[in-house]
Amino acid sequence: MPDHRVTENPVGSTVLGYPRIGPDRELKRAVERYWSGKIDEAALAETGRALRAATWRELAAAGLDSIPSNTFSHYDQVLDTAELFGALPARFTGLGLSPLDTYFAAARGVQDAPALEMTKWFDTNYHYLVPELGPDTTFTLTGTKPLDEYREAKAAGYETRPVLVGPVTFLLLSKAAGDAPEGFRPLELLDRLLLRYAELLEQLHDAGAEWVQLDEPAFAADRGEKELNALTRAYHVLAKATARPKLLVAGYFGGLGRGLGVLARSPIDALAVDLVTDPSTVDAVAAEGALRDKEVLAGVVDGRNVWRTDPEQALARAATLLGTAARVSVSTSCSLLHVPYDVERETALDARLKSWLAFARQKVDEVVLLGKALRQGPGNVDLTAARAAVRDRATAAELLDVRVRSRLASLRPEHALRSPFARRAAAQQAALGLPALPSTTIGSFPQTTELRKARAAHRAGTLDDAGYTAAMREEIERVIRLQEDLGLDVLVHGEPERNDMVQYFAEQLAGFAATEHGWVQSYGSRCVRPPILYGDVSRPEPMTVRWATYAQRLTDRPVKGMLTGPVTILAWSFVRDDQPLSETAAQVALAIRDEVHDLEAAGIRVVQVDEPALRELLPLRAAGHEAYFAWAVRAFRLATSGIADATQIHTHMCYSEFGEVLPAIDALDADVTSIEAARSKMEVLTDLGEAGFGRGVGPGVYDIHSPRVPDVDEVGGLLRTAVGAVAPDRVWVNPDCGLKTRGYAEVEPALRNLVAAARQVRAEL
Ligand code: GLN
Ligand code: ZN
Repeated sequence: MPDHRVTENPVGSTVLGYPRIGPDRELKRAVERYWSGKIDEAALAETGRALRAATWRELAAAGLDSIPSNTFSHYDQVLDTAELFGALPARFTGLGLSPLDTYFAAARGVQDAPALEMTKWFDTNYHYLVPELGPDTTFTLTGTKPLDEYREAKAAGYETRPVLVGPVTFLLLSKAAGDAPEGFRPLELLDRLLLRYAELLEQLHDAGAEWVQLDEPAFAADRGEKELNALTRAYHVLAKATARPKLLVAGYFGGLGRGLGVLARSPIDALAVDLVTDPSTVDAVAAEGALRDKEVLAGVVDGRNVWRTDPEQALARAATLLGTAARVSVSTSCSLLHVPYDVERETALDARLKSWLAFARQKVDEVVLLGKALRQGPGNVDLTAARAAVRDRATAAELLDVRVRSRLASLRPEHALRSPFARRAAAQQAALGLPALPSTTIGSFPQTTELRKARAAHRAGTLDDAGYTAAMREEIERVIRLQEDLGLDVLVHGEPERNDMVQYFAEQLAGFAATEHGWVQSYGSRCVRPPILYGDVSRPEPMTVRWATYAQRLTDRPVKGMLTGPVTILAWSFVRDDQPLSETAAQVALAIRDEVHDLEAAGIRVVQVDEPALRELLPLRAAGHEAYFAWAVRAFRLATSGIADATQIHTHMCYSEFGEVLPAIDALDADVTSIEAARSKMEVLTDLGEAGFGRGVGPGVYDIHSPRVPDVDEVGGLLRTAVGAVAPDRVWVNPDCGLKTRGYAEVEPALRNLVAAARQVRAEL
């Protein structure tokens, strides 16, 4: 038996993955140009090759002992894995397309072959494609991507560690194919899949790979006996392969729970643990005697946030493990996919704030430095700069706003409380006089090229304030007239001034900073540039009042003010890590509350506070749910209380599977909640009914994710289902979500049908 113990081949410092879209989003551009036929496959491949080469060069030059490969992807690593093992659904493989086009068809869908479902990668803002597997799925090692990338790196002079989605996580993230028998679980395919993984390991070994990394983040969530058994089985089977690289299994986005013991006792060679998300993992690992003959990668550099690492804390955590494992290496907590490339490029950022930040490039340096410090002792390595930056941030008076602090300290429970719903409902009915089944939209109207141009020109300074205001007003007026013409009951101003529902507010709130190049991949070619919430948050000036009141002056119908909620603002930003999220959320909530109050004072009678990310921040383990709900709900209620009973609060979420968040949605105490429901045919109403949800609800009756225009009968049918499931006087009529990604050619007829259907069903009540 070969001796796989790591001491022979130490990995002193490494990262679990690296961004892949390119420092200037080169991959995004190339992929999109390929889709539109502007470049061919060879040109796209060349862009990929250049990006990979640059990454390896950079990681090697920084001094990492082990460099990952196969972290590149044309779209998504889970889709890559499905393709690798020949597990793409027949609706794509039967199209007769090239392998690359088949892959993109699965990612984006084509006529008659809808895309794979896309969903959140654990609790990050990255989204992966959900493989569809059935009992008949046969895995074959059809792909060569990990092997190709390994060889490509080798040819360029770099020994790398191919990174793969682990087999158990792959199956747990997959869903049963539509035609699979009831009760089928993809995990049943484990043995079949392991044969192919073993085959791949052999190929990698033959190509010369010393190590391979298998990611099993699925074990950061609660997992049952079956799943833990699968984990045991997977790594016993894979370790048995006679010719294989050493196995590094990576668990991240939290502690591994019982998975830790399973992996410690399995014959793998190294285990990577996330010591940032759940620092108590340190003790669990230290207590795990079975790790004595393995290497442990201490994930002490946060792979998901942008702050410089505290060297004392990181070294203390890593050092706790020294006696536990055969060897300890320093690593990132997870792949650096979730942070931007390089903070040095941010020339417009405040210099002091910049000195507190570390993006992917800087985090690699941190890992190398901490690795050295761990090896040679902190006294032999220069940590002065790292210490100084962390100390400077920890003591920066600029981060503190005493007014915000004292306002928070003086809050009493009644600040997050409105009067009973029945009383509010009566006051709102008297004030608004809406018909039964009132119709409305979720906020945004289609964003035309002219609008985007006007915003860009204003930003660039070529369109002055007056010109910009005029352009926005013109658009608002057009949208108001359209809604009147369509016969909607509660109107919106259409959000023409907003680039993004979080960025728009972050730009106007104190305590936030924006980056120029801080792009991270959200899914496929889509990238986002999250704002950085670095200090105490407050609202210097009204943010939306002038647009909302302009719209309201144009019409007698109520115009709904439109804000983003505190949880969503946190979820889509890089958030300070020097105080509990609950506190930061309360600060953001007070800023939004100020806006709600100003809107009310300016005569706006309906205000929507969007919380589409309420489910996103839900902790992966159930044990964390209660505490999360407590602060998330309090933040929303703080933002929406202290107003007249007659002022109606709406909220909006764009998903239909509420499951665990249902009680929280109820606790938000919004007067009206609009939710995605069209595709699931109103199923969500049954859940709401069973949970005793007793306020207004607007189940989406128009699926805005598709260009299809639903006809009156279809919308009417959904509405009849809704009034059958929920008391008719509580049902609202609205689309699933905002309309900004759609065109007027579809939106106008769809909304016309929506209003007609509302009138029809109203008449039947
Ligand atoms: N008000 C926003 C809009 O209509 C809501 C967007 C969202 O839910 N993601 O665009
Ligand atoms: Zn939405």
